[in-house]
Amino acid sequence: MKHNFNAGPSILPRIAIENTAKAILDLNGIGLSLLEISHRSKDFQAVIDEAVALFKEVLGIPEGYQVLFLGGGASMQFCMLPYNLLGKKAAYLETGVWAKKAQKEAKLFGEVVTVASSADKNYSYIPKGFTIPSDADYFHITTNNTIYGTEIHTDMDCPVNLIADMSSDILSRPVDVSKYAMIYGGAQKNLGPAGVTFVIVREDILGKVERAIPTMLDYRTHIKEGSMFNTPPVLPIFTLNETLKWLKALGGVKKMYEMNKAKANLLYNAIDNSKMFVGTAEKDSRSLMNICFVMKDAYKDKEEAFMEFAKKRGMVGIKGHRSVGGFRASTYNALPIESVKALVDCMADFEKENA
Ligand SMILES: *Cc1c(COP(=O)(O)O)cnc(C)c1O
Repeated sequence: MKHNFNAGPSILPRIAIENTAKAILDLNGIGLSLLEISHRSKDFQAVIDEAVALFKEVLGIPEGYQVLFLGGGASMQFCMLPYNLLGKKAAYLETGVWAKKAQKEAKLFGEVVTVASSADKNYSYIPKGFTIPSDADYFHITTNNTIYGTEIHTDMDCPVNLIADMSSDILSRPVDVSKYAMIYGGAQKNLGPAGVTFVIVREDILGKVERAIPTMLDYRTHIKEGSMFNTPPVLPIFTLNETLKWLKALGGVKKMYEMNKAKANLLYNAIDNSKMFVGTAEKDSRSLMNICFVMKDAYKDKEEAFMEFAKKRGMVGIKGHRSVGGFRASTYNALPIESVKALVDCMADFEKENA
């Protein structure tokens, strides 16, 4: 039995994978594979329509917002966003490498203000008490910093359009979408397989910049064509829809949030009560999705031995990102609490033998 703690692409509900496998062989009993039919066929149109409707339903997306499923990853959004929305000035919160990459693209389009950064402590906390310039076109945040295991847990009040990269915590907790002008992310962390990017955008913020926007990079193109201006990522959208169905059947985002808190508490408690392990993120900034920890200085030389020990017990993907080191357990929606229990037991047993 494997316990899949991969950071992304990452664990998906088994039922979503099984239903995808079936659709690859024969979609809805039509005698053709999902892979060999037109994206404009009624069978696929039904899939994307259901995915949009379910996404709106489970996240509680209000009127006035559009849901898009695009290619290019969250990284493409780093440039599409300023292309469409940066007139003169944009503000960014620098909470990690992804936030920095987003900010870098914005500099191609106008003035960029970094309102605060946690680079001084290797992005181990979410900065507080910053001021957002009221003349910025938007303020960009990364709600969950996948690499460092920090997370913004609340939907902040913002004097300008608030834009969030939610690649790694979308649908992990209830969100007041009305506080945001746009939310985007790659699906491959908590929503589906690699290859599809979601964008939730309030339509009234578009069309305000003067520059010409290439057709494919203009949100209005994709809104007008229902994400079908060109061929969308058909297969990942199918699996994303299956994941949404699974999430709804289990009790929706509220239920996910409860389960995610239970999983994270279990592991953080084990870390905090351990002689050997210590968390890397400041406690009030800790992520529910990516739990980062290292060995205390006295045991640093045991990290590799623990990796081996954990591997034998079926733990997959717990190696920390190279910029943080140590370990990272990603506890996305589809990860069962049993896997977290197995990891906690594994840590305790290793400690018994080695501390
Ligand atoms: C993984 C990740 C990205 C990059 O996503 P791509 O789809 O690979 O471009 C961006 N932001 C965050 C927070 C991520 O975790």
